Amino acid sequence: MVVDTIVTNGEVVTATGRYPTDIAIHNGKILGVGDREALPECEMVVDASDQLVMPGVVDPHVHIDEAPENRAGTYEAETAAAALGGVTTIVDFAFQGRDRANSDPDADLLDGIQHKREKAAEAHVDFGLHGVLHRETEDTLKQVTSAVDAGVTSFKLFMSNYRIGVSNGFILKAFERIADEDAVALVHTEDPAVCDTRTEQLQAAGRGDAVHYPDSRPDYAEAMGAADAARLAAETGVKYYGMHTTCEAAADVLEPFQDECSVRAETCVHYTVHDRSAYETQGNLPKIAPPLREMSDVDALFEHLRNGTLSVVSTDHAVYHEEYKRVENWWDAPLGANSLQVSLPVFHDVAVNERGFSYPSLVRWMCTNPARTFGLPQKGTLEPGTDADLILFDPDASFTVDAATNRSNSTYSIYDGRTVTGVPTKTLLRGEVVASDGEVVAEPGTGEFVERLLPNWEP
Ligand SMILES: [Zn+2]
Repeated sequence: MVVDTIVTNGEVVTATGRYPTDIAIHNGKILGVGDREALPECEMVVDASDQLVMPGVVDPHVHIDEAPENRAGTYEAETAAAALGGVTTIVDFAFQGRDRANSDPDADLLDGIQHKREKAAEAHVDFGLHGVLHRETEDTLKQVTSAVDAGVTSFKLFMSNYRIGVSNGFILKAFERIADEDAVALVHTEDPAVCDTRTEQLQAAGRGDAVHYPDSRPDYAEAMGAADAARLAAETGVKYYGMHTTCEAAADVLEPFQDECSVRAETCVHYTVHDRSAYETQGNLPKIAPPLREMSDVDALFEHLRNGTLSVVSTDHAVYHEEYKRVENWWDAPLGANSLQVSLPVFHDVAVNERGFSYPSLVRWMCTNPARTFGLPQKGTLEPGTDADLILFDPDASFTVDAATNRSNSTYSIYDGRTVTGVPTKTLLRGEVVASDGEVVAEPGTGEFVERLLPNWEP
């Protein structure tokens, strides 16, 4: 037998260890892992000398092309950025009303899923979708079953003062419905009334400078939301995943719920890197929700990654035209920041280089845990039989983040000027090289929609 590819001379990193070995790839799958002498002949050799070989990053929290109004991201550009950053699978969002702007009020969630799949025709990496439930109707609850059948096995609700926020009463009903399907519930947790009140006070006082933005969405508002959602999850037994945990107060609320075995949570790269002082230097560019916090919160997030309260690190990638960010008052700027292209090297730098966490932890938080949490058994692992999504990573090479090299449609980066050590040098998607030495080499459309399974969260 002659196999397609052998990756050789590298040091493999998995969720449980790291060791020098070789990987045989055939028909897009990992065929075997072991010494090259024991592996078959191959068509192509990928030399991984001085490189780590890791599963491709699975980013379960990505927003692409959600609404026409002010967003600049496209599937072609954002997934090209993902490929360059070593990200081989993303999970984006599908909306009732076709898109986030509710452009077609008659459209249901299945229409939203179809709309996003069409938008994604030029994807460079694989993608799945979460369904967003924002209409408080019985019909919404019925749409959960058909979405699960379409491979959308997780559902997001917003407890927020956005236009798509819903009440705790509806979250309760939705959790029961999602639990019946054995699917996963996600919630954006910030108490909307507290955020509204604080925002009005800051507006009345004329505090429009970006440095005041975090005070409009305080950590205790996030902790209140997290407490409500986790309590409702425990009562209904739904598998619950807390989105973008930013602070000690919220993580402390979630910690005791770990015993329930049905409560998990993530943080995002920017919360592990920046504190609120970034608003002094970057204005509204890092305006995200929840906001950047204190340095003590950054430390606490790493402690909660260590103890397992937080098990996934995602990006919450979102792209806006810069002109909408460069406005006088923070309340007029949109929420979101791009980071798919540099999330792995930036997080690797703070977690492994600065704080001494292991490479297997990095793989667990960015690859294996997100895949297992969201029903992607073919992803986030180097086990034989799974998709050959893997990356070569040079742990010793350094680079300085430069927004001018963004492959994303974003014209700025909240990491601009930051020098980090550790560079993804090659990205393989189902055995095919999609990015190599800073160039995207695959055709648009190489990425495919992944129908996700209902995940098993048993320990
Ligand atoms: Zn988000």
